[in-house]
Amino acid sequence: MKEGAAMTGKARISGTFRTRRNHLHFPDSPETPLMQKEELKEQFTDLMSKFTAYFGKHLADDVMESLKSLRAKQTSEISKIIYDAMFDDMALAKDRNVPMCQDTGVIQYFVKCGAKFPLLGELEECLREATKRATKEAPLRHNAVEIFDEKNSGNNTGKRIPWIDWQIVPDSDDVEIYAYMAGGGCSLPGAAKVLMPLEGYEGVVKFVFDIICDRGINACPPLLVGVGIAGSVDVAATLSKRALMRPVGSKNENPVGAEFEKLIADGLNEINIGPGGLTGTDSVMGVNVEQAARHPSCIAVAVNVGCWAHRRALIRVHSDMSYEFLSHKGAVL
Ligand code: SF4
Repeated sequence: MKEGAAMTGKARISGTFRTRRNHLHFPDSPETPLMQKEELKEQFTDLMSKFTAYFGKHLADDVMESLKSLRAKQTSEISKIIYDAMFDDMALAKDRNVPMCQDTGVIQYFVKCGAKFPLLGELEECLREATKRATKEAPLRHNAVEIFDEKNSGNNTGKRIPWIDWQIVPDSDDVEIYAYMAGGGCSLPGAAKVLMPLEGYEGVVKFVFDIICDRGINACPPLLVGVGIAGSVDVAATLSKRALMRPVGSKNENPVGAEFEKLIADGLNEINIGPGGLTGTDSVMGVNVEQAARHPSCIAVAVNVGCWAHRRALIRVHSDMSYEFLSHKGAVL
């Protein structure tokens, strides 16, 4: 893995890939499509394995920028010490090529797959294998424990894990994949509830504040707070996690929603949780709200939280397996 290499246009997985692919193309052979598919699967799995191992060691550009700007604002000694410890930790992780936090989480992939992407049908299998390889290569802590059996698989895969959230995009042959490490501490505050209709948006705000005041400290602040608002709890929960995939500093597409985000963030920054939960002025990097139209009789709200080590990455892979590493500018896998 190299960092800082110049990226002009699309990066290639391998300089020999185009040659090898051409070499495999024998139009008269009935075995060719299968061979090509197997080659593509291997290229894609290898790429996703490197991608998954990488983002546990290097924060996305937006998260890094947010932490730098928060560090520059700190006035109390304890807050400065906490932020400096974070940057020391990240420098050590980079130097030693190891994850920046011992809890590398349960792996989740949020997939926007073009209907014409050549590995649409194989994507889940590839991501499972990529997770197993990344677990060895990174290495990642073993965090997949089967429900009821209470056995750890030892490779970060299990029933429905890595979790894959699917969106299919018509008329595209690319795939965009957000990957996320759902750590224990940052998953702990997660909660969802269907409010009575009269509770309204005030009820949504109260719910968010109750959750962050009660459990936000478990998630190693400063936090990125994801809020989902919808008509049912399942949709709200999904949206609250998708909200964490949005860049820090981005705004809700609805101007009222954007103002709502700002008001909640300003309020959470007043409650004195501070970096590391050791008190201070800046408790959140931001609040991202995602919404879906609701039933008139109910309003559902869900909260998911990202920690200071918000390990989230975005890659776009094209049908020829070339890629753009969108969240980590200049990084090459
Ligand atoms: S909340 Fe984040 S930084 Fe804290 S232990 Fe969990 S994964 Fe690591």
